[in-house]
Amino acid sequence: MADVRTRFAPSPTGFMHVGNLRTALYEYLVAKSQGGKFILRIEDTDQGRLVEGATDVIYQTLDMVGLRHDEGPDVGGEFGPYVQSERKDSYKPYAELLVKKGKAYRCFCTKERLDSLKETSEFGGYDRHCRDLPQEEIDRLLAEGTPYVIRQKMPLEGTTSFTDEVYGTITVNNEELEDQVLLKTDGFPTYNFANVIDDHLMNITHVVRGQEYLSSAPKYNLLYEAFDWEIPTYVHLPLIMGKNEDGSVSKLSKRHGSTSFQGLVEEGYLPEVITNYIALLGWAPKDTQEIFSLKELEENFSIDGISKSPAVFDYDKLLWFNGEYIKKMTPEEFEAHAMPFYREVMGEGDYDWKILNEVLQPRVNKFNEIPEKIAFFANQPEYTSELFINKKSKANLENAPVMLSNAIEVLEGVENWTVDGVHDALIPLAEKLGVKNGTLLWPVRIAAAGQTVTPGGAMEVLAFLGKEEALRRLKDGLAKI
Ligand code: GLU
Repeated sequence: MADVRTRFAPSPTGFMHVGNLRTALYEYLVAKSQGGKFILRIEDTDQGRLVEGATDVIYQTLDMVGLRHDEGPDVGGEFGPYVQSERKDSYKPYAELLVKKGKAYRCFCTKERLDSLKETSEFGGYDRHCRDLPQEEIDRLLAEGTPYVIRQKMPLEGTTSFTDEVYGTITVNNEELEDQVLLKTDGFPTYNFANVIDDHLMNITHVVRGQEYLSSAPKYNLLYEAFDWEIPTYVHLPLIMGKNEDGSVSKLSKRHGSTSFQGLVEEGYLPEVITNYIALLGWAPKDTQEIFSLKELEENFSIDGISKSPAVFDYDKLLWFNGEYIKKMTPEEFEAHAMPFYREVMGEGDYDWKILNEVLQPRVNKFNEIPEKIAFFANQPEYTSELFINKKSKANLENAPVMLSNAIEVLEGVENWTVDGVHDALIPLAEKLGVKNGTLLWPVRIAAAGQTVTPGGAMEVLAFLGKEEALRRLKDGLAKI
């Protein structure tokens, strides 16, 4: 068997939808799991839809998730150019060849006529008006310079079958196939034509793409057959659905959450988590393992694990994955990721970040949860009396002032202002006062933080605030109870 060659063929739209990224990932995995090559081809033949900088988004995304292409516009290769607009001149001769073979024809219909067909045609598409124009008529129109497109001449009877690795053998009635445009008036090929030509010229062996292309596959097969070219292996991927509030599912869209790679990254999901998660959107590993590095995916992936039933994009599950990845980070990695969020709240000052790292790493599922959790360190607390009352800790408005004034006194003498240093001052104090630790620590933490829920306990909060600010807050709290 020929060496496996797959291609990711995005149109530069300016963002990377999770469905596109999944296609890229599966193309990559189909190739790499079989020692093959992964090729990047930019499909920009729809010149009206070009977006500035959109190709960079594709490069950046592939780079961030580690999908390195073996051939492509930026890395070159022997089958270039890898940008369709740069291949523009190579399509017309193939379209002409099909006209010669009687598998395609020139269509001179005006836009107005085609638009009016949309409403009137029972076929819902082109009525094959130019399919059998007499040769003199064609010659006359060409001599007059009438603009034309080239359309594929579909068989009017019989059936066409194709086999997909995931969906099996599918057969369609040829009469249902529209005489689709292959080459536009501006000389650019349509997507449907260009992808066949390019896949053939680039020796692509496996075409992996979304299920929405399933209905076009018969048309592609007819083209391959018309040219007498080998048909690639088709691998169509199941739809990606989102969960609705009422429990039903529908095609994944913005109302379910971010649907682009960039959007998810901005929300705080790690690129490797996104890759890991979308690997499972339509593919099931042989055992129960869920956490996979890209390398492990390359080793474990196989086409027969792809399912045809729709996959549901579950944002809660993605969040869980993210949390699992965060827990596995080294403290240094965690701090590096958390720092921009620390700085967002704390500014440029010097703090003992380790204290925050330790309390936050097991508790955050996304890094952008951090600012809200630590905002109280930067804001002046506002106290209400109720905050100082806690049944379980036996903390109340009578004992809180006693606890606070005693705490202030011992803490003023602490020189080693660390979690341990503060701990070693307060725990003996509770014993000395004959109260539960909680009875002392509750009002201390409330005075220091101004809120009942904090990452870490009183010691961590005090230690991170620093001695001066911590004591200032305790005194302020005492004055305001
Ligand atoms: N340019 C097409 C798209 O972005 C590619 C589809 C395919 O993989 O053939 O949807």
